[in-house]
Amino acid sequence: MNSLIIKETMPKGLIVQKFGGSSVANIERIQNVAKRVASYKKQGYSLVVIVSALGDTTDELIELANKITTTPSEREMDMLLSTGEQISVALLAMAIQKLGFKAISFTGAQVGIITDTSHTRARIIKINTDKINEELKNGKIVIVAGFQGVTLTHDITTLGRGGSDLTAVALAKELAAVECEIYTDVEGIYTTDPRIEPKAKKINEITYDEMLEMASLGAQVMQVRSIEVAKKFNVPIHVRSSFSKNPGTMIIKEVKRMEEVVVSSVTINKNEAKITICDVPDQPGAAAKIFKELSDSGISVDMIVQNVSHTRKTDISFTIAKTDAHKAIKFTNKAAKNIGTGEVILDKDIARISIIGVGMKSHFGVAAKMFEVLAENKINIEMISTSDISISCIIKKKFAESAVRALHEKFGLGK
Ligand code: ADP
Ligand code: ASP
Ligand code: MG
Repeated sequence: MNSLIIKETMPKGLIVQKFGGSSVANIERIQNVAKRVASYKKQGYSLVVIVSALGDTTDELIELANKITTTPSEREMDMLLSTGEQISVALLAMAIQKLGFKAISFTGAQVGIITDTSHTRARIIKINTDKINEELKNGKIVIVAGFQGVTLTHDITTLGRGGSDLTAVALAKELAAVECEIYTDVEGIYTTDPRIEPKAKKINEITYDEMLEMASLGAQVMQVRSIEVAKKFNVPIHVRSSFSKNPGTMIIKEVKRMEEVVVSSVTINKNEAKITICDVPDQPGAAAKIFKELSDSGISVDMIVQNVSHTRKTDISFTIAKTDAHKAIKFTNKAAKNIGTGEVILDKDIARISIIGVGMKSHFGVAAKMFEVLAENKINIEMISTSDISISCIIKKKFAESAVRALHEKFGLGK
């Protein structure tokens, strides 16, 4: 047996490593991950490894469900989607065992990741680490299925798209890991999506707040909720590539810079849709009725734009997650009918482009420069919203990539 000839050094701390779907997309990549994990074990680390479903499995499972119904039960959706991660943990355990190391795989339910009952977006209530600790003590590499948990009444739940990041951060916190490594298919966090702008630059260190803003505005490289948890418990995260040994990006509490950069990244989000309600009577309570209808049906609304009317009627536009579009249009139509508005229009061909930078707080003219860049490229702005450290514009989806590249260039991010 190989294991007899593997010399392990003195015990070191515990590392949590998470491998995303693209890092385990096929058998060869799973074997690569196994080699990397084993190399850390050889150095004396204890390891808890979180894995996502293979490649695009989760999307494929969603498509399968949609072939049966576009409104599947959320409980059954969780039953279905959680199977993806169960496949990858078992295969990775086998690949690690094949290299002569002890490994054991678990589902979220088996290790005791207890969540509330909000299926498809469940929140972690507590994690029982006894089972993991017991297996670590036995010298095993513990492999945990990401993205899933279980309710107190034994129903399987999932933690929202990209939820394996959350599993990793939450376990790193609970197990007091010395490192939480997120392995993905790019070398770290970049000034913009490197697949859209090859001139994007890798960022060595970034704060939780900057990463939160980037993730909320569309940089899917880290799940928003995982960063919220990391920030709350001060868990440093190392985002790096599973295809190289290069150091990636550290996401931490504070980055010491002489002066804050005005604009430090550009994001793109194509997962939103826009609903416009025309000719809403300009009277108190109209907006309240529409948005109450939506919130009662569990739809979260993002950007909202309404103008002061000069004709006693006004248009209201808002954005929602594209996945909620069908549900949202149904409830908006209901509210619109009640109030007596004009037409309700759904537009799925939009994208949100945002610029982010902590230094924006103390600079003016940033918005003007962003609008100028879009104008120079003949891109019409449909909606605008701002926060302390970001400015977002809704534009036509077909212009999204060129807008990102133009803004990246104009704000000097590739330099
Ligand atoms: P995983 O399968 O490892 O979870 P994801 O697809 O969730 O990977 O996230 C990685 C992807 O995020 C990258 O392939 C990249 O295209 C995209 N991405 C978007 N914005 C950024 C950014 N600012 N920096 C790095 N990657 C980004
Ligand atoms: N497989 C899940 C998803 O695609 C979770 C993850 O990858 O983090 O959303
Ligand atoms: Mg991900």
